[in-house]
Amino acid sequence: MIEEHIKEIKKKLGADKVLLGEKIKERYSHIWEINKPLNAKAVVFPSTTQDVSDILTICHEYHQPIVVHGGLTNLTGSTETNVDELVICMEKMNAIEEFDLSSRTITVQSGVILEVIHQEVKKENLLFPMSFGAQGSAQIGGVIATNAGGLRVFRYGMTRNLVLGLEVVLANGTIISSMKKILKDNSGYDLKQLFIGSEGTLGVITKAVLRLQQKPKSRNSAYVAMNNFENVVSFLKFIDQGLAGTLSGYELLWERNYKAMTSPSTGIAKPLPYGYKYYVLIESLGSNHNKDQQKLESLLEEALMNELILDAALAQSIKHIKLFWRIREDVDVLVSQCKNVQNFDVSLPVSEIGAYVDDVFNTLNTIPQVENFFAHGHVADGNIHFLISKNENTTELINKINNIIYRPLTTLGGSVSAEHGIGTHKKPYLKLCRSIEEIQLMQCLKTAMDSRGILNRDKVIDFKK
Ligand SMILES: Cc1cc2nc3c(=O)[nH]c(=O)nc-3n(C[C@H](O)[C@H](O)[C@H](O)COP(=O)(O)OP(=O)(O)OC[C@H]3O[C@@H](n4cnc5c(N)ncnc54)[C@H](O)[C@@H]3O)c2cc1C
Repeated sequence: MIEEHIKEIKKKLGADKVLLGEKIKERYSHIWEINKPLNAKAVVFPSTTQDVSDILTICHEYHQPIVVHGGLTNLTGSTETNVDELVICMEKMNAIEEFDLSSRTITVQSGVILEVIHQEVKKENLLFPMSFGAQGSAQIGGVIATNAGGLRVFRYGMTRNLVLGLEVVLANGTIISSMKKILKDNSGYDLKQLFIGSEGTLGVITKAVLRLQQKPKSRNSAYVAMNNFENVVSFLKFIDQGLAGTLSGYELLWERNYKAMTSPSTGIAKPLPYGYKYYVLIESLGSNHNKDQQKLESLLEEALMNELILDAALAQSIKHIKLFWRIREDVDVLVSQCKNVQNFDVSLPVSEIGAYVDDVFNTLNTIPQVENFFAHGHVADGNIHFLISKNENTTELINKINNIIYRPLTTLGGSVSAEHGIGTHKKPYLKLCRSIEEIQLMQCLKTAMDSRGILNRDKVIDFKK
């Protein structure tokens, strides 16, 4: 029997925007689990902000818990659902509403895929700098809800720095619209920042004004290798200074990761030989290809002479650059080599990373059920990702590994999530990097903005009435 409030939603939106019964099972809750049927009471597909407001007004009235689905690429369990929950899918809100060349902004609905934004702005020689492996599936609403980071944070900042305006629907259906295109606005609290990174727990994002950059005219990449972590840090300082503001990526791969990504089965030739402990991919975005390449080459020569780095390979063409980046970005290659995978995205002060990762690797090596592990990361941002493969998936083992990765972060002044968010997977560990008072303030905000706890209930923090 269809519940009263679902009938009301159906009546308001139209039957074609509501999925019920067996049809729900044709959907899924994560792009890596498309064979696992979705569990939910109903799935709704709003196509306007008013639709979202109508859905939430009814759900609020009936205390109906909801989960928002964007591109389903999160790595934190945040789009998992149960049979009592209603899913709001944002995929029909996928229009680009305005492209303003003079203010260098684009106004988009939240279901627009990140890569579509890249393609659109590229036509006008502009750049939306947010870039990461899942950009072909992630929606801008999900990117904003998770405050995604990615490959160019060092130069352009997190999503937080790229959003000028936001439209959000609150749990009770109220529409909060602040779609300004201005960079500076100190008129009271910056409310949009509350929703950015809130993982759908404070409101449903329906539209955004994004800040664009002029597209750099040249792109150069190189791999360098070192054997000690002090040189990874010193070379970062050296190359950042030498490139005078054009360094846009500084990605670190440990050797086991570099080897897996360039093994014969991947078809990607290794730019540098095996045998080094660390491989760093650097990228500079500038204005004159030849001059920028010469500059980078001479800096690499200087670093080799000073033994800051032990080896270097400079990409000679766009094809090379793409191959270099596949070695870092094609995480699917690693995932396909993993069983019962656990993903991590911790952050900590850059200088502490080398010793921390050595300790983690040593401890993982003592666990018989751990079959393989990889580490890579946006090291200039202090952000390291681990992928850990195991031959079993008991809760005890999952918790043991979580503790190995997370526990040291408290004394190191790190975070259990640099960019993926908390979702459900990291919720028990939030207290390792946030004080009780901070968590209580988060709960206070949640209760004030969603008094019935219907939005992404029990994700990020516990809902306290
Ligand atoms: C191969 C791969 C590489 C990745 N690399 C990176 C990386 O480098 N950096 C990085 O930061 N992340 C990375 N991620 C994680 C992921 O892609 C991001 O978190 C992404 O921003 C999620 O967007 P999505 O549309 O898929 O959101 P979803 O997964 O659908 O949802 C994520 C969260 O946001 C909420 N949500 C979604 N849409 C809305 C909305 N409109 N309003 C309110 N809440 C909403 C959901 O309820 C959920 O809590 C990677 C993931 C994969 C699979």
